[in-house]
Amino acid sequence: MATIGVLALQGAVREHARVLASLGAEVRLVKRPGDLEGLGGIVLPGGESTTIGMLLEEYELAPVLRAGEIPIFGTCAGMILMADEIEGSDQPRLGVMRVTVRRNAFGRQRESFEEAIDGAPVTGDPLRGVFIRAPYVTDVGPDVEILGRVDGKIVLCRQGRFLAASFHPELTDDRRLHRYFLEEIVQRAAHLA
Ligand code: GLN
Repeated sequence: MATIGVLALQGAVREHARVLASLGAEVRLVKRPGDLEGLGGIVLPGGESTTIGMLLEEYELAPVLRAGEIPIFGTCAGMILMADEIEGSDQPRLGVMRVTVRRNAFGRQRESFEEAIDGAPVTGDPLRGVFIRAPYVTDVGPDVEILGRVDGKIVLCRQGRFLAASFHPELTDDRRLHRYFLEEIVQRAAHLA
């Protein structure tokens, strides 16, 4: 099983590490460019996207991730960092996906909620997402697969080796989305390499 990094500059790091380890991955916390060597994939956790984006540049992690070799799974703030367009903001980002995101998009009435995701690529019960001041995607480029919606809004999407979720799958007991990343993206990317 591959070694999976969890970006550990700020945000919900430990929860992701725990889920990945429980699925059999070797987990490495990533803080420096050298930590990216040999990774099969990396998770960008939720947190504050402006802070994480600045730190990605400051710690010189951004250029390597931007090069696009390493599969990335971004959740919440992580999704924002993967987008090439952030509505009304010029904050630093990786911009590896052809998507436009809106930050804090569900508004004040829905600052924090849990909801079933329509259309998620899992079998059995619907995937449930925990949303915390969550973004959603307002526009996608041609290569982007839409994998999940809530209230008709795009909350889960994929472009090749990049997977982005508006919500926090690491905060539920449901490990199916992490498993999807490991099996459908990381393992396939390893076969193609
Ligand atoms: N609202 C945060 C941002 O815009 C994201 C929130 C989260 O990651 N839970 O960066």
